[in-house]
Amino acid sequence: MSSKLVPSICPYCAVGCGMYLKVEKGRAIGLEYMTDHPTCQGALCPKGNAVLEVLNHEERLKYPLKKAGGEFMRISWDEALDMAAGGLLRNIKKHGPKSVGFLASSRCNNEENYLMQKLSRLLGSPHVDNCARLCHSPTVVGLGAVLGTGAMTNNLIDLENSRCILAIGTNFTEAHPIVSRWAQKAKDSGATVIVADPRITSTSWMADLHLRIKPGSDIDLLRAMMKVIIDEGLADRKFIEERTEGYAELAAGLRDYSLEEAAQLTGVPAGEIVRAARIYARSPASALLYSMGITQHVCGTDNVKACATLALVAGQIGKPGAGVWPMRGQNNVQGNCDMGGMAEFYPGYKRASDPASIEFFKAAWKADDLPLGPGLTSTEMTEAALQGRLKAMYLIGEDPVTCDANINKTKAALDKLDFLIVQEIFMTPTAMMADLVLPAAAWAEKDGSYTSMERRVQWIDLAVPPVGEAREGLWIINEIGKRLGLDLGGSSAAEVLKEINRLVPQYGGITRERLDLHGLVWPCPDSNHPGTPILHVGGFKLDGGRAAIVPVQYRPPAEPISSGYPFILTTGRVAVHHNAGSMTRRSPSLQKREPDLFLEINLKDAQEVDVADGDEVTVASSRGETVAVARLTDGMKRGVVFMPFHFPRTNLLTSEFTDDEAWIPEFKVSACKITKRD
Ligand code: SF4
Repeated sequence: MSSKLVPSICPYCAVGCGMYLKVEKGRAIGLEYMTDHPTCQGALCPKGNAVLEVLNHEERLKYPLKKAGGEFMRISWDEALDMAAGGLLRNIKKHGPKSVGFLASSRCNNEENYLMQKLSRLLGSPHVDNCARLCHSPTVVGLGAVLGTGAMTNNLIDLENSRCILAIGTNFTEAHPIVSRWAQKAKDSGATVIVADPRITSTSWMADLHLRIKPGSDIDLLRAMMKVIIDEGLADRKFIEERTEGYAELAAGLRDYSLEEAAQLTGVPAGEIVRAARIYARSPASALLYSMGITQHVCGTDNVKACATLALVAGQIGKPGAGVWPMRGQNNVQGNCDMGGMAEFYPGYKRASDPASIEFFKAAWKADDLPLGPGLTSTEMTEAALQGRLKAMYLIGEDPVTCDANINKTKAALDKLDFLIVQEIFMTPTAMMADLVLPAAAWAEKDGSYTSMERRVQWIDLAVPPVGEAREGLWIINEIGKRLGLDLGGSSAAEVLKEINRLVPQYGGITRERLDLHGLVWPCPDSNHPGTPILHVGGFKLDGGRAAIVPVQYRPPAEPISSGYPFILTTGRVAVHHNAGSMTRRSPSLQKREPDLFLEINLKDAQEVDVADGDEVTVASSRGETVAVARLTDGMKRGVVFMPFHFPRTNLLTSEFTDDEAWIPEFKVSACKITKRD
């Protein structure tokens, strides 16, 4: 029997690596490396190499399920779709359209997410959001405010052209392993790598200079670097004068800021700050990489603004090898935000609070009315459900019961809903709480486009049929829409992409016909446009074409340590797991390498709490407690402990205080205590 190779992309992180699936008799039986892929060039990390273990997993959801008497029972699609539409309609009729909320999915393709937000808004609910709220909403808001576009400025392979890489709040060698190939190439060509991270990580091993910053003091470090750059005459005055506004206010605000003060606040010696600032500013091309170590704070948006401002002051933007590089998480989190799966934005980042956006989409969708936003963010939806204001939710490919901060609160909120629909590929902890579970096709079982962190839009065709009775998300959303009297327009992904081409300016020229293995990088406004690998080359998409420098100030983490909770818990990724772990923890080869929750703790701290390597410990915060296996290391700063967030118990502990612009919880700083278990 002959097999065929079908191009596909990795369903995990937003690097967007390509691969070929080897398909025989309608089943994916192997992988082949895609050496001509523009970003990964044939490489895959352990997760990418193990995707078939998940695609073909026996626990995939295969049939619609409804809960009856506390148990799930198999039902037909007709019954499931009637029940979905009926549950939403019941609540809309009784409590109004704003009583229902929707979560689009950064694991689903652009077309599904476009349709999901359209369903929400045509029903009259502005409440549609996605998991970017928990990872990079400050990027969308913060970079949008300063640079005019809330996305990575350069394409990933361009990292090779950098002569300085400043990585702050990102452990990219674990979180986005393929990126480290390009960073290493740059280093091999003489680039200096500076890493700002409280932990010694595999990324910091790459560093020429490791700034062991105190958690939550990023703004102080970035301001201190700006201060050095300005005081030593290293600021790019021509760039600042021609292409920015707000510099004078920034410089005035830094005048009395001393390096000694910065050293005390950050825990980084003043000499190291000076060295980092000089290298960053003097290099012909400096890239600033950041991830959730920057965004997941109560000052996450200000942190992002400070990153962008540093790049502007040094003129390190709008050219090869330079720029600001948010390392985004899920494989289509960029696309989901582009498609308007966010409370603040209609598709194409048209502000939901702007009446002009409403008029534009009313005309485009032939709708009598559409809700003015912003709608509730996912973190606000939790509060609204707890207070009884939100009555029903429809979630696709999201697992808030694992991913939210303080998940006991999320569970209580979902428990209060009158009706919960979860569309998933596995029975996740969130799906367990649903009234109705809809089995969805996985990425290789459907057509559609995905947008990687470098804004590269890639199309994949269905490689294998969906398992059991699972169906494409597009079909499910359309069918629910039909039962609610809505024609969402577009029964195929190619048709929906045509609508996206018409209504989302950045995607104007990203047509199905043009999308080959290399994809296209937005903005790509028309069918003759080649795409835009580097943003801001000639100007910024803000009034007057100038970037808006915004001075920001340090704000302390919301939850201080205390005698009861003397440690700072910080969370992050490991290379072999991804996000909620609902997929990677089902992958035997990955699970074998990292089977359970662990806690990294400094050797001396461990001694003080009488914990030895391999001991089981109870980790407790004011919100809950969990058990983890202790790993003793001198890689942790004193007083700081680390747990990966891929296990369902980590977020029992995390801080739910949120940034007041982007509403992201402060996952990176939670006060906790450690006790050895008997
Ligand atoms: Fe590439 Fe990310 Fe997939 Fe790893 S997880 S193969 S880095 S896309």
